Amino acid sequence: MQDAMSSTPQYTESSHGLLLASRYFIILQDEKSDSALELMDQYQANNNAKIIILANPEDALALHQLSQAFKQACIGTYAIVCGDEYFLWQIKNKLLDYGLVSAEILLIKTPSPNKQIYCVHCFHLFQSSADKFCDCPQCHTSLFIRSHFSERLGAYMAVCANAEQIEEQTT
Ligand SMILES: [Zn+2]
Repeated sequence: MQDAMSSTPQYTESSHGLLLASRYFIILQDEKSDSALELMDQYQANNNAKIIILANPEDALALHQLSQAFKQACIGTYAIVCGDEYFLWQIKNKLLDYGLVSAEILLIKTPSPNKQIYCVHCFHLFQSSADKFCDCPQCHTSLFIRSHFSERLGAYMAVCANAEQIEEQTT
């Protein structure tokens, strides 16, 4: 069994037939993405679904409104979150703070490669679209992005690229 806390996360491709909740909040990063269009198509006519477009997961006012909406929501409300990986985990961790549990949150990832990276050298969290290698914007270390993912941080662990090569040679 995979370690849920440190392995690469899995996402759903589409919400078709996945959830049967009494009420849905659908939180979209970009209403023009294919997945978002599909979700809107599926839920727009559903009186039990509320579609929320939240382009910036750090928008304090929008997040406050979201937290209020969840406070007023009845039990059995599910959240469907659609966006890039950075967005998904920022929002998921907010929703957990609002009292939802993981099973009530469905993450749908758009094709964008944007994600959050955690530099293990200086503990800096930053966004990147890099696949394997990038430089830490804070300590300037050349980093290798590992597949290990922290759900708590919503970030991939990145280690010194050279150290990783040495590790690979010796194991
Ligand atoms: Zn760093």
